[in-house]
Amino acid sequence: MKSSWSTDTSIIHSLDQENRHTGVISQSITPAVAYSFSNSENAAAVVLGEIEGTYYGRYGNPTTNELERQVAKLENGEAALGVSSGMAAISISLLAYLQNGDHVLVTKDVYGGTFSFLKNLAPRFGIGYDYIDCTDHDIVERSIKENTKVLYIETPSNPGLTVLDINGLSAIAKKNNLTLIIDNTFMTPYLQKPLEMGADVVVHSGTKYMNGHGDVIAGFIIGKQTEIAMMRKKIMGDLGQNLNAWESYLIMRGLKTLPVRMKRHCDNALAIAEFLEQHPAIKKVSYPGLASHPQHELAKRQMKAMGGIVSFELKGGLSSGQQFIDNLKLGLISFSLGDPETLVQHPASMTHSSIPSEERIKYGITDGLIRLSAGLEDSDDIIADLKQSLEKIANTQTRELQHN
Ligand code: PLP
Repeated sequence: MKSSWSTDTSIIHSLDQENRHTGVISQSITPAVAYSFSNSENAAAVVLGEIEGTYYGRYGNPTTNELERQVAKLENGEAALGVSSGMAAISISLLAYLQNGDHVLVTKDVYGGTFSFLKNLAPRFGIGYDYIDCTDHDIVERSIKENTKVLYIETPSNPGLTVLDINGLSAIAKKNNLTLIIDNTFMTPYLQKPLEMGADVVVHSGTKYMNGHGDVIAGFIIGKQTEIAMMRKKIMGDLGQNLNAWESYLIMRGLKTLPVRMKRHCDNALAIAEFLEQHPAIKKVSYPGLASHPQHELAKRQMKAMGGIVSFELKGGLSSGQQFIDNLKLGLISFSLGDPETLVQHPASMTHSSIPSEERIKYGITDGLIRLSAGLEDSDDIIADLKQSLEKIANTQTRELQHN
């Protein structure tokens, strides 16, 4: 493979030439769980990690290994680990760097599942945490305790789309000996490469854009070779959170179209954000590509493009938010994102409902907030759908006013 090729080209020709024993163009699937060895010495060396090889499916699989190689290359990391979900990637990475008595600083608007893991499971392992506003670096520095070991961030965040300064936060992490872990799900390595900006570890929900077709649950951790090997053997293997061959195959198929898909998601999201921003029924639109976004300049420096997610707030709160998504004809109400279909959700009643309402406000999740994942459809059709839904709400409100 030529090293001068751009990502758009090399991602399509990414199959490891050395592994192309049969001359296949697309990846083959190896479902085998167990592998045989020429002798016992050889078997022991593979299990001990002294020589490369696969020995039991819970610790790795040749198809998944090929995907891991591709993901590590995309993120420009030493190694990657494919795991059974984004939450497996998040929990494994946190457990790898935190022990009983340690503390983690977490950006305040974080994915609901991460919030739930920290609230329900981390305390059982004696791990403490604080949510902080990571846009303010003084607050970050002041919040570091003697036992703080990890700074965990998501940028742009779900669902608020806050953009955090990776270079700046990595400098703070380095100065204070913290491991900086970044959830890069919303961007994918195509739009943002946190390791190149000083992050130590990147995690992904592979379920979203990386696979891109809504038919796989998967996760990735990318970092240093020795640390990834430890996570594979001592955490993923012991907890049984491996990624199987079929899922890996589907993700490799999805990755070939990652650049074209991301470009279309981004174009559609910008068109939607611009439409919503000028609509009288909308209180606020958050999209890093809008000049009104508080971190628009930072986003332009740090991200190749602005992503496929738009968050916005309707005037009228909870009932308007729910009516809006109920009225849609093309957009589907769904908990996921990053699929070909436009997906919408109402965080207060759906993804973030596990967070008490008074706390949700602190994290910017207001009752009227909607998260929209721009699909790959024609943007005119998506916008026409949003328009008809907003008009319906306006008509209902007018009728209610006339009745009162
Ligand atoms: N990180 C982010 C930003 C997410 O949006 C999600 C899921 O929506 C996850 C992690 C968890 O991923 P998974 O559902 O694959 O466990």
